Amino acid sequence: MNGKVALVTGAGRRGGIGEAVARRLAQAGATVVIADLCAPPPADLPHPGIGQWEELNEIAAEIEALGSPAMPLQVDVTDAASIQRMVGKVVQQFGRIDILVNNAGAIFGPSPVMQMAEDAWRKTLEVNATGTFLVSKAVAPVMMQGGRGGRIVNLSSLAAVRPRPYMSAYAASKAAVAALTQSMAQEMAQFGVTVNAVLPGDIDTGMKQWGYQLEAQIMQRPYSEVVAAGIARIPAGRLGTPDDVASVVAFLASDAAEFLTGQLVNISGGRELA
Ligand code: NAD
Repeated sequence: MNGKVALVTGAGRRGGIGEAVARRLAQAGATVVIADLCAPPPADLPHPGIGQWEELNEIAAEIEALGSPAMPLQVDVTDAASIQRMVGKVVQQFGRIDILVNNAGAIFGPSPVMQMAEDAWRKTLEVNATGTFLVSKAVAPVMMQGGRGGRIVNLSSLAAVRPRPYMSAYAASKAAVAALTQSMAQEMAQFGVTVNAVLPGDIDTGMKQWGYQLEAQIMQRPYSEVVAAGIARIPAGRLGTPDDVASVVAFLASDAAEFLTGQLVNISGGRELA
């Protein structure tokens, strides 16, 4: 990936999938731009946490130490003006974007539909579905400049095809990401842009740990039991790691995946089969 410029959203949280993806792409030689919201988490709705500016900068410095340039940027993927500022800065600095990983994602207040706050539904859809749409819309024309083409990899979720109770907003938003991926793949193939999605199962990140904590609270069961029950559903017998996802994303973002587009790739240790 020498000479390629990659943009990874939602990469400012230590131990997250975005951080692992950014490292992988940098190790493959890409210049990496990592972006995150860098704002306080919402006070009114339960939420897994937000990547902060200091954390984002530390991650960028560590990636630079691997030998590839890394640029940290603030972005709100729900805000078209903020996205334009981010894309403008990347183009001004590096002149191109070859790889986009739409990794920013969120869950707000999971609960049964009958009790779910309207705001929780709207915000979840806004970050996951609308955010992926807005960033792709802004970045795709840059990829196409000079007939270069590029790679877009979207973070959907196994929840898109195997929705669980209390997670309706999240599952619906990730199903929207999957559908958006397959529409974009057909629109952009003629311009040399491939668009694929990965559907991770249970990946051990801050977001997942928060989910297990919440489940433990609701079910009034010890945290360790909830995690063990989660693992029991996975034929591979363990949770996924951010690196398990990063290696597949890096392949989809590589030249080797040129003829792969519109694909939805489960990364789940076989959970959907169990
Ligand atoms: P994470 O919380 O570490 O990463 C999500 C990141 O998105 C955070 O850094 C957060 O600050 C950022 N973000 C949230 N709202 C944003 C906004 N408006 N603008 C910019 N950035 C914003 O969690 P993760 O588990 O690493 O998740 C990464 C992606 O993978 C998400 O899209 C998530 O839905 C998806 N995913 C995770 C799992 C899992 O088991 N962990 C499973 C399936 C899919």
